[in-house]
Amino acid sequence: MHCILHLIRKGELEPAIRWTQKNYASIHSDVTDQESISDIQSSMKEDDLSRSTGDSGTRLPMASVRSSLANQLRELEFKLHRLQFIAYLQQRRLSEALAYARQHLSRFQRSQSKEIQQLMACFAFASRISQSPYASLFTSALCDDVMQSFRRCFWALLNLSDESPLYSVVACGTIALPHLIRATRLLAARESWSQCDELPVEIDLGKKYKYHSIFVCPVSREQSTESNPPYLLPCGHVLCKETVNRLPRGNARFKCPYCPSEQQVAACRQIHF
Ligand SMILES: [Zn+2]
Repeated sequence: MHCILHLIRKGELEPAIRWTQKNYASIHSDVTDQESISDIQSSMKEDDLSRSTGDSGTRLPMASVRSSLANQLRELEFKLHRLQFIAYLQQRRLSEALAYARQHLSRFQRSQSKEIQQLMACFAFASRISQSPYASLFTSALCDDVMQSFRRCFWALLNLSDESPLYSVVACGTIALPHLIRATRLLAARESWSQCDELPVEIDLGKKYKYHSIFVCPVSREQSTESNPPYLLPCGHVLCKETVNRLPRGNARFKCPYCPSEQQVAACRQIHF
C-alpha cells in the first residue's frame, strides 16, 4: 500500500493504477481519481493556469475546498494568480496583466499587500525585468514553489503528509545506518537490543526528520516513553510519571522539586506533546 502511495506522490500513476487493478480492487477507483492532481500539475508546467485556478470550473474548484485549510488554500490561490499575472508581464501583455490583477489580485490586498506592491512595481520595469529588483519573480523557482504548495494542500486535504512516508523511512534509515553499524560493534558484547522500544544510542537525523517534541524528566534525566509519560503538576512544572510516583514516598503530598509548593499526586495530569 505504501508503495502505491509513494508512486502516486511521485506522479507515477500508470504503475500505481496497474498495481491496484491487480491487487487492490477496492481502492482502484480512489487511485484513478489521483489523475486530477497529476493532470493539473502537468497543466501548471505547461503554463496553463486556468485549470489549477479553477477558471474552467472542471477539476479543482477552489470555492468547494475553501472552508477547510482556508489560509493555506488562499495563499495557494494567490500564488497561482500571481503566476498568471507574471506570465502576462513576461509576454508584455500589460493591459491584460492589469485587468487580471484588478479582477483576481485585488481581493488579496489585505493579506498579501507586500507581494501585490511588488507585482505592481513590476510595471515600471516591464521593458527590462531581468535587470529590475524583481527579477527573482520571473524565474522558475516561483513556479516550483507553487507546485510544492499545491501538492502540500492536496495531500493536507486528504490528511496525509506531502512527503512519502516510504521515502522518509528510507532516508532516515540511510542517515542512521552508519551510526547503527558503529553502535552494534561497540555494543556487541551486551545483550541484543534489536527488540527494544528505544535505541540505546541517540542518532541525530537533522531538523527535517524531527516530527515531534521529546520530554526529558528534569529529575530522573530520562526521556519520556509511553509507559513513563510526562505529568503536569498543579504548580505548572512537569515531571515524568515515575518521578511523580516516587517523590511522595508513601504520602499523598510531596513538595515540587522546582518550587516551594506542595503537590498532590492525584492532582497531577498526564500531558501530551
Ligand atoms: Zn513546581
